[in-house]
Amino acid sequence: MTNERNWRQAMKAAIRDPDELCRLVGLDDRWREPARRAASQFPVFAPLEFLARVAPGDPFDPLLRQILPLDAETLETAGFSRDPVGDGLARREAGLLQKYAGRALLITTGACAIHCRYCFRRHYPYEETPRSLEAWAPALERLAADPSIEEVLLSGGDPLTLVDEQLAALAGELAAIPHLRRLRLHTRLPIVIPQRVDDALIGWLRSTRLAPIMVIHANHPAEIDSAVADSLGKLVDAGIPVLNQAVLLRGVNDNVETLAELSRRLVNLRVLPYYLHQLDRVAGAAHFEVSASLGQTLVKELETRLPGYAVPKYVQEIPGAASKTRIL
Ligand SMILES: *Cc1c(COP(=O)(O)O)cnc(C)c1O
Ligand code: SF4
Repeated sequence: MTNERNWRQAMKAAIRDPDELCRLVGLDDRWREPARRAASQFPVFAPLEFLARVAPGDPFDPLLRQILPLDAETLETAGFSRDPVGDGLARREAGLLQKYAGRALLITTGACAIHCRYCFRRHYPYEETPRSLEAWAPALERLAADPSIEEVLLSGGDPLTLVDEQLAALAGELAAIPHLRRLRLHTRLPIVIPQRVDDALIGWLRSTRLAPIMVIHANHPAEIDSAVADSLGKLVDAGIPVLNQAVLLRGVNDNVETLAELSRRLVNLRVLPYYLHQLDRVAGAAHFEVSASLGQTLVKELETRLPGYAVPKYVQEIPGAASKTRIL
């Protein structure tokens, strides 16, 4: 059995039924009805590989919190909207967003390997995302016509839910645009289904002319088990810079011990903490919000405990701003 079949099988075997999720993690019946209600707005998707890291029977487990639908998601909260980061205004072509100088983002797919309940794109209109290389032509033409762009980000959704043949073909089209220099992948797959990091992936990442950079997404040290550590090691050994972004989440990582341990775990694996994001105010995620003043206190405390390179930049996305905005 090849690795590729393994990760695709893992995607197929992922839990999509809220009742089954509750049962597998040992939650009693009280949790099922609310889970079903909230899942009707944003479905459950949780691979067994990730569920194996959840402590059974604990509804407050910080990994489970990220995937368990709760009634709180169905409440409307003032200030929380369907497009909190201004993706609509940043659209340049179907699947192409640009907000910042020199870099543009491709929404490569709407699919993810996990559904994070706090996701800022939980309401994104993925229907228009191109599904074939031909359908990418307008976005690619737009990139080719703009020599100011030197970096393309593959995002989504999660680009690594696409198979390597598709990704390598897209990377080939991008590499043919002379002014592009770097290809960045934003993905949670090495964390969620670590066997996704296989020879085929490393192969095309190493062979493209573009300098590859990978930005992974882990919020809690318990997400990084030994299989994840091995996969991150493969990427770093292949010469691919790996950075982590996390979201500051109530009930998940809103304390200094957890954030410090996450950073330690990452840097020990040669992965650098990049951003700690203030939650984007997306409808359905208000219960995850941590105040910016608590966030500042936590990050200042991190600075007293860790080397400078292990402290992520604490940032917020303000629609229309020229970069992510530091919260200092
Ligand atoms: C966040 C984001 C980026 C990346 O910003 P960096 O500061 O370079 O990590 C690029 N494009 C869009 C549309 C983004 O939302
Ligand atoms: S993996 Fe990323 S894009 Fe997908 S649901 Fe989680 S936060 Fe959202």
